[in-house]
Amino acid sequence: MALECDLIIRNAEIIDGTGAARFAGDVAVSGERILAVGALPEAHATREVDAGGLVLAPGFIDAHTHDDRAILGDGRLALPKISQGVTTVVTGNCGISVAPVRAKGKALPPLNLLGEDYESCFGTFREYADLLAREKPPINAMALIGHMSLRVEAMAGDVDRPATAEETAHMRRRLEEALDEGASGMSTGLWYAPNIKAPTEEVVEVAAPLHARNALYVTHMRDEANDVLRSIDETMRIGRAVDSPVVISHHKCSMPENHGRSRETLPALEAAARLQSVAFDVYPYAASSTILQPNRLHPAVKVQITWSTPHPEARGRMLDEIAAEWGVDRVTAAERLLPAGAISFMMDEADVRRILAHPMAMIGSDGLPHDAMPHPRLWSTFARVLGHYARDEKLFTLEDAVHKMTGRTAAVFGMTDRGEIRPGAFADLVLFDADKVREVGTFADPAHPAEGIVETWVNGASAYTPAGGIASDHHGRLLVRGRAD
Ligand SMILES: [Zn+2]
Repeated sequence: MALECDLIIRNAEIIDGTGAARFAGDVAVSGERILAVGALPEAHATREVDAGGLVLAPGFIDAHTHDDRAILGDGRLALPKISQGVTTVVTGNCGISVAPVRAKGKALPPLNLLGEDYESCFGTFREYADLLAREKPPINAMALIGHMSLRVEAMAGDVDRPATAEETAHMRRRLEEALDEGASGMSTGLWYAPNIKAPTEEVVEVAAPLHARNALYVTHMRDEANDVLRSIDETMRIGRAVDSPVVISHHKCSMPENHGRSRETLPALEAAARLQSVAFDVYPYAASSTILQPNRLHPAVKVQITWSTPHPEARGRMLDEIAAEWGVDRVTAAERLLPAGAISFMMDEADVRRILAHPMAMIGSDGLPHDAMPHPRLWSTFARVLGHYARDEKLFTLEDAVHKMTGRTAAVFGMTDRGEIRPGAFADLVLFDADKVREVGTFADPAHPAEGIVETWVNGASAYTPAGGIASDHHGRLLVRGRAD
């Protein structure tokens, strides 16, 4: 039977995203969706690609990003993702989102990870969604609403305290409105000052609209160090009280005192998963990155500066070196660098591996696209999982690695018809060389595209090649949890 379609990728090793073993075959695409998978010698297409035995996988899904703004405009800031084969990002994590925020002036940390002032935020989620619809992004996005963004508006910037009942009601209304306008969940960043002042009850009250809309509760927990188990308990309590699925962000055991404790946290998460819906994301590095917080420095943890407003020349340098040069202690040096961002080398590699390899894990980069000298996870997370951890270290099979960044993620977030290669699914695809794929970015020199990615497609259209860069016409869109359009 002659099959007419727009694109055929022939002679591929297909890893379909379900975790199943790879198989040789062709993939035919018609419009935005996959039409057929298998041996398709009779098919004809406007464009035929000979994969030459390379791996074809569903486009990768970055479960944890701060790309709210990076996907806007000409899409240049999406290059770190799309050059790794990422075709969808989840935005609005850690309690910080660009919408809905009605406020004026300089953005409070950590909201300044997304931009310097509130004027660059969106007053309603609808404004943000309309902009994405009008000027398509280069990749797809699913959006969460940040608890801190809600707090800044409801509490008129006076956020270093629990919210009043009235303020909580305001946040709840704004969340409800945003969910009705296309957001898919709410995120918290309870570890950050000022949100650490928000009691569990405040979160439960604000998050009440999630259940009726089948939306997610996603959290950067109150503590990932000594109190990590207590924080898992709090998270599960919130999930049960709100009756919503839970995603724990960038799961880790922070600080030397807690190295090895993934042996406790993972069984705790498995036990919780028997009672309620819970998943977690993780990035493949033993160093974290966020805003620099002088009161949270640990004497045994090395710190590298990623940006500093008063001292831009400090980017990429170690805090201890700067302190020595200035003849001050590291806390004083850190205070002088503010506002600033930093990388902290505070995890144990064995924990990172145990968490990555766990069947509940999804891959999320937590990359910071606006940092002057970003943590290499921005440009390299997916290539590092495929190359370093799957191929070289054999921590898991390539099929498992792909599943953790496609099928599993799409299922957890409710991205309908995404994350798998099968007839009827959206044609978000990546062609890569499994022998060559590797991360190029390092802590010293992070901003380099991965090697081994041959081509990326978004909704059926070619979106990236190493030679051509990001295609000039964009085909991404806002995804809504549970919706197939
Ligand atoms: Zn976070």
